Amino acid sequence: MTPIVRLLCDLIEIPSVNPDLCPDQPEITGEERVAQFLIEKAESVGLEVSRQAVLPGRENLLVRLSPKGEVQQRIILAPHLDTVPVNSEEQLKAELKENRVYGRGACDTKGCVATYFHVLMELAKQSNRPEHTEILFVGLVDEEVNQSGSRAFAESEIKGDLAIVGEPTELEIIAAHKGNFWIKLEVEGKAAHGAEPQMGNSAVHKMAAIVDVLLTAYPKELRKRSHPLLGSPTINIGQINGGHQPNIVPDSCWISIDRRSIPGETAESVFAEIHELLDQHNLAERKLSEIRTVPCHPLDTKPEQRLIRDFLGTTGRTKVMGVNFFSDASPISQGGTPAILFGPGSISQAHTDNEWISILQLEMAEGMLKHFLEKQK
Ligand SMILES: [Zn+2]
Repeated sequence: MTPIVRLLCDLIEIPSVNPDLCPDQPEITGEERVAQFLIEKAESVGLEVSRQAVLPGRENLLVRLSPKGEVQQRIILAPHLDTVPVNSEEQLKAELKENRVYGRGACDTKGCVATYFHVLMELAKQSNRPEHTEILFVGLVDEEVNQSGSRAFAESEIKGDLAIVGEPTELEIIAAHKGNFWIKLEVEGKAAHGAEPQMGNSAVHKMAAIVDVLLTAYPKELRKRSHPLLGSPTINIGQINGGHQPNIVPDSCWISIDRRSIPGETAESVFAEIHELLDQHNLAERKLSEIRTVPCHPLDTKPEQRLIRDFLGTTGRTKVMGVNFFSDASPISQGGTPAILFGPGSISQAHTDNEWISILQLEMAEGMLKHFLEKQK
């Protein structure tokens, strides 16, 4: 077993389920056990450790490799430490089978934690650490719920010239992903006895017409705009709720909307276009409000930057790509550090019951990242 595979297996067997997703099982939740494990390793090779308060009992872990000379650039390696819940004890055991490592977090995203951290440890042990490049490993908390870790880090004074954010990208370099808005749309009607429906005004009937427009006319409009890496924005209506019982004309109805956005779209522009479209169809008075309290902007990092071109070169890629899932890269780039995603494993394995990662990809990611960092000034 190579050291990076060993490290990944150890990380899988230290559970770090996001506590908000599993409130009743303190023995397997929280990022702190993983953080303590990494701190011990970091200190054993002389790396500088600090913490950043985020939520009660939950802190980002910062591990710094200082250059030999003065700092002229900073590269941030930022994987998240939390995972989604488990359905069985089995998932907390690392298992090696057919050149894969199985277990919760194997690909999302302890594979990235192992890759980034192992490379940092190797560089710390070598005498040829960079002259002028500081490398900062940031183990983030709470990616799987509110991205509180990356939001707190983005608000801090620490900025970098590039942040490589850990998610399974099958070794592609991702410079763009969609943002999202979760919107509640409510309409009111007038209640009446079910035996005299003509005396009321059904909110459900009004909503039915609205849903029809939002799922037919609106997507047609959305397909008229697109981003080169992300395609067009989309809309999904994920919930509908209205009325009280069969013999009352419903006086209220609401839906919840997941609207995936591309760069350039804002909450204001999205709300305005939904209102305008429903007005054009003479549809009922409605109220729109945002359900999410945190902003989820699209990621749109410009690939022309020197460090990104360098990284493309060392990974043998010719171009950056886009993905559909939201990530910590968005808050970090909003905070002023250009961010990309890069990591071993496939997002289609994330959150599954038999989550796994390819050992070959894990070792390739390690080689690519190490090569890139060693080439820095
Ligand atoms: Zn993840």
